[in-house]
Amino acid sequence: MATHSDVIIIGSGAGGGTLFHALAPTGKRILLLERGDYVPREKQNWSTKAVNLEGRYNTTEVWRDGQGGALHPHTNYYVGGNTKFYGAALFRLRHQDFGEVKHHGGVSPAWPIAYEDMEPYYGRAEALYHVHGERGVDPTDPPASAPYPHPAVSHEPRIQHLADDMARLGLKPFHVPLGIMLDERDPRKSRCIRCETCDGHPCLVSAKSDAQVVCVDPALERYPNATLLTGARVARLETGPSGREVRRVIVERGGATEAYSADVVVVSAGAINSAALLLRSASDRHPRGLANGSDVVGRHYMGHVNSVLLALSRCPNPTVFQKTLALNDFYWGTPEWDYPMGHISFVGKVDADTLRAGAPAMAPGWTLDLMARHSLDFWLTSEDLPDPDNRVTLDRDGRIKLEYTPNNEEGHRRLIAKLKQLMKQQTTCGVHGHECHEGLFARSLYAGQRIPLAGVAHQNGTIRFGRDPKDSALDVNCKAHEVDNLYVVDGSFFPSSGAVNPALTIMANALRVADHLAARLG
Ligand SMILES: Cc1cc2nc3c(=O)[nH]c(=O)nc-3n(C[C@H](O)[C@H](O)[C@H](O)COP(=O)(O)OP(=O)(O)OC[C@H]3O[C@@H](n4cnc5c(N)ncnc54)[C@H](O)[C@@H]3O)c2cc1C
Ligand code: SF4
Repeated sequence: MATHSDVIIIGSGAGGGTLFHALAPTGKRILLLERGDYVPREKQNWSTKAVNLEGRYNTTEVWRDGQGGALHPHTNYYVGGNTKFYGAALFRLRHQDFGEVKHHGGVSPAWPIAYEDMEPYYGRAEALYHVHGERGVDPTDPPASAPYPHPAVSHEPRIQHLADDMARLGLKPFHVPLGIMLDERDPRKSRCIRCETCDGHPCLVSAKSDAQVVCVDPALERYPNATLLTGARVARLETGPSGREVRRVIVERGGATEAYSADVVVVSAGAINSAALLLRSASDRHPRGLANGSDVVGRHYMGHVNSVLLALSRCPNPTVFQKTLALNDFYWGTPEWDYPMGHISFVGKVDADTLRAGAPAMAPGWTLDLMARHSLDFWLTSEDLPDPDNRVTLDRDGRIKLEYTPNNEEGHRRLIAKLKQLMKQQTTCGVHGHECHEGLFARSLYAGQRIPLAGVAHQNGTIRFGRDPKDSALDVNCKAHEVDNLYVVDGSFFPSSGAVNPALTIMANALRVADHLAARLG
């Protein structure tokens, strides 16, 4: 195959896969380099034991934590990247998230672009990823120029009951915007069968809107100018003598080392791997790492303050697809506490195998299996702030080292307290009365209630974009300030992360950068 292309994209996830799809119709030669292969289609795709307990699809790569200990990251290297495994909750950042926001723990910095700049691309990303939702119910919903392309996914009875209870208390629960190809009006023809193994699992029937299914494969089918190389791990980027242009993309593939080149090179390997790649590409012209004159590459790692909390009731929770309800009433705080707290939603319904993988604090008198059958499984997200000391570096052997000290936790604690309060105010159960609700339990014992460092699902922020080359690595088009043909479009460009899931913003931004690149390439 030709080793020179118009554009090389490194990584096929939310950022890279979306960009590949958007650039393919330009007719330019686009080469997508992906270190992983396709997720094998097999029954284990939908096995919680294989996926959650045995980590069948996790990378076996070992990183280092801040103390130099072994870190086994919960991340996946496949065509489609982490979107193969995501819960497909596709949120826009809130309008104010683009501005500076004061938190209890410090300041969340403004983005160099406004919500209005991103709005049309959010709309396009929602259409591309088949988002099902309802606008205007969530009080923090940002303005949108069009309705969601598909109706919201309905609640099952236990979740509807909870939504009604919340509404009775004057809150505004809403339907999670979801990228799944579910047609509830015509279940026989619906591609999605509404199963319990969506969040965290690949979709065996290709009905989840992941980057492989909706972007990479359709682009490959339609456009001969678009090419994918799997098993192609990019080891290093090399510039020409001026240092202003990436000339060679060095790839390890099938045990050999190969070199590729392109007029434009786009890195989209995920926020941690992209930072590591730029750091590994240090040279005489870029001694601190490629495009890192500002010394921000690898810094300001964010991953959200996340908790999984199980609310146990004596009554069972027979819900199959649980991730339909969310609550943002406390996103910006409360009248008594004027700082942001965050977002309340759900994970996919847990079972005993999933619980075993993160041994929960056992409720007295309950087995794991019983807990799983009776729990409502909440997912709480709050914003962590970009701290320069929370960072990706390389150890002496070139391995990834991830240092992270949690910050801005008070808002999260208060969010948990709010949820506890809410759960106590549910309508009295007809069978068990007030005794039905037994309390909230953290899913994970090993890090208290919080998701541990290895939980890098929401990684972002390590190669931030901005207007000032002194404190950002990328300009507003996500082009490296110091390199004329180098771009980054994964989650690393975030200067701050809000408290909703990141993928839709990564996808929308990739579409924005695609417009810029299409104009540049002519
Ligand atoms: C279990 C789980 C559930 C989630 N649920 C949600 C959700 O409901 N909503 C949401 O918004 N987000 C969710 N996320 C997060 C979401 O998946 C990520 O934010 C998103 O996929 C990040 O996109 P990205 O382009 O930055 O990186 P990725 O999607 O991770 O893509 C990076 C790609 O680069 C490849 N790569 C890495 N290094 C190299 C290299 N050196 N050479 C070549 N290729 C390389 C990787 O194999 C991968 O394919 C979830 C994540 C997980 C793991
Ligand atoms: S069938 Fe639907 S609910 Fe099940 S994994 Fe696929 S997209 Fe998710």
